[in-house]
Amino acid sequence: MNPTKPSEKSSRRAIALFSGGLDSTLAIWLVKRQGVEVIALNVDIGFGSTKSKLEHMQSMCDQVGVELRTLDIRDQYLREILFNPKYGYGKNFNPCIDCHGNMFRIARELMEPWEADFLISGEVVGQRPMSQRRDALDLVTNLSDTSDILLRPLSAKVLPPTLPEREGWVDREQLLGITGRNREVQLKLAEEIGLKDFEKPGGGCLLTDENFSKKLAEFVKYDTLEVEDIALLKCGRHLRLPGGAKLVIGRHKEDNEMIDAAITPKYEKIRLLDATGPVAAISAGAGEADRELAAKLTATYGKTSPEQSYTVQVGERTYTVTPYPTKAECQQYFINS
Ligand code: SF4
Repeated sequence: MNPTKPSEKSSRRAIALFSGGLDSTLAIWLVKRQGVEVIALNVDIGFGSTKSKLEHMQSMCDQVGVELRTLDIRDQYLREILFNPKYGYGKNFNPCIDCHGNMFRIARELMEPWEADFLISGEVVGQRPMSQRRDALDLVTNLSDTSDILLRPLSAKVLPPTLPEREGWVDREQLLGITGRNREVQLKLAEEIGLKDFEKPGGGCLLTDENFSKKLAEFVKYDTLEVEDIALLKCGRHLRLPGGAKLVIGRHKEDNEMIDAAITPKYEKIRLLDATGPVAAISAGAGEADRELAAKLTATYGKTSPEQSYTVQVGERTYTVTPYPTKAECQQYFINS
């Protein structure tokens, strides 16, 4: 659909890039209250940090009265964006400019099937060091070819008027001109409109997390990252053994459950047979020395004594090992150490 042509729909429709955060929620609210129908689009790149995120996003959409749609692009993201960003990385493994550009390009392609007239995002000029500097916003716009149809309601008044503003689909005067990192205006507006529980649970994108980024960088030195590998990177202690095998050991009950669920054919499960201990996973096909060491390391993190021997199952085989006297001996194998 050509967005400049009069729409047959009763009102204008916008697709909002939606992260679940306060800014993207407020951007939706600012446009929705002007009679525009908004569809909140969450693009899943695979590096969100918590299970409760979907619930949270739904709650935010319910509060501002818009429909939530999610789109899984994890595979495309790994193949085309994460390891080859045109504009490089931020402080960690976060290719934010390319990532935003990719999301906006995808949203633009959905405009026709979803009969939308324009796009909106919660970006604020100057808020984030990498992706929301003014020049970075321009790069994102260019990368996604969304010039003129991408409205940023929180910073609209400090940006050139976009098509929806010039055409009068949206009244620019009712939008905001926020710049910088100070969140005062957003928090005040959230209070005024009565938004509840708007803090995102469990933090944001793991690609901006230093420890996660180290694990990811280390992983790709040994293996090709596939969508199925991401879940295991999100949990447990990560170790690299002398023969090259990867070992992941659960830190607590939730980790153990996550590791159990995340084991793919690339990994074999490890568990202590005669003591309580963590669930662990080792690279499938690991050499004998790494398997035995993995059993010893896993036993060290169990409810075990260094004075005793334990039976540990590694894949289909069992090993009798004695735990290390202290956990300090395990540190040499840690990826983050
Ligand atoms: S923080 Fe993560 S999701 Fe957001 S733009 Fe950067 S890489 Fe993409």
